[in-house]
Amino acid sequence: MTRNELRAHLDFFSELGISGVSHDVEWRARRDGSEPFKNEALKNASSKDELGALTKSIEKSATSGTKDVQLPGEALVVLREDLGDCTRCKLHSLGRKNIVFGVGNPEADLMFIGEAPGSAEDIQGVPFVGRAGQLLTKIIESIGLERDQVYIANVIKCRPPNNRNPEADEVEQCLPFLFGQIDIIKPRIIVALGRFAAQSLLETSETITSLRGREHQCRSSILIATYHPAYLLRNPSAKRDVWEDMKRVRTLLSV
Ligand code: SF4
Repeated sequence: MTRNELRAHLDFFSELGISGVSHDVEWRARRDGSEPFKNEALKNASSKDELGALTKSIEKSATSGTKDVQLPGEALVVLREDLGDCTRCKLHSLGRKNIVFGVGNPEADLMFIGEAPGSAEDIQGVPFVGRAGQLLTKIIESIGLERDQVYIANVIKCRPPNNRNPEADEVEQCLPFLFGQIDIIKPRIIVALGRFAAQSLLETSETITSLRGREHQCRSSILIATYHPAYLLRNPSAKRDVWEDMKRVRTLLSV
C-alpha cells in the first residue's frame, strides 16, 4: 500500500468515526487476502460482469416473451412489472416523481433496507443516492464490499410528502413487494436501517436501541438492526455503534 493509499484509507475510516487500527483477528486475516464470502459467485466473478450477464439474460427473456422465472434477476423484473405504475396507496398522488423499486445484485448475500425514498431518490428513481446514500456506500465499503455487490431497497417505494413518516395503510400496501424482493433475493443477512425499517420488518414496536446488538429472523434471513445513515448525519457519534453492527455483519458473512 502506498503512502497516498494509506492516507485515503485512514481518511475514510476517520470520516466514519473510526479511529486507530483494528486488532480484530478476522479483519486482519481478511485484509491479508482471504475472502469474506462463501458465495462462489461473489468470490469468482466481478459483480459488474455478473450483472452484465444477468442483464443479457433478462433481455433475452423479455424478447423471447417467456415468463419462465429461473434467475433472481428475472424474477425481480417480473415483480417490478407486477408493481407497475402503482396506485395501491395514496402516495401515488402526493407528488411522487418515480417509484423507487430497489437496486443492486439480485443474488446478493447482503441486503440493506431503509424507510422510504427522499428527494434525491424520488428524482433519480434509485434508493440511497443523497447524502445519506453516500454515507451508506462508505458503510458498505467499510466491510470490504462494493455497493453493486449488495441489494438496497426501502420499505416504502414512493416518497412521502415532506419526508413525513409512512402511514400504516401505505406500509400495508407496499410491504408485500418488499417481502417479494426478499424472497427472490434470499439474502443471508438483512441490515435494517433505522427504527422504521426494523419495526416494519420485525412487526414490533421495540426501539432501535433495544433491537440493536442482537440477531433477528426475517423471512429466511438473519436481520441486523442499526441506525439509519440520515440519523448518523445528525448524530456522528453514533457511527461507532454502526461500525460495531457492521463488524457483526462481516462476521456473519464470513462463516
Ligand atoms: S408506496 Fe408502494 S403501494 Fe404506495 S403507490 Fe408507491 S409503490 Fe404503490
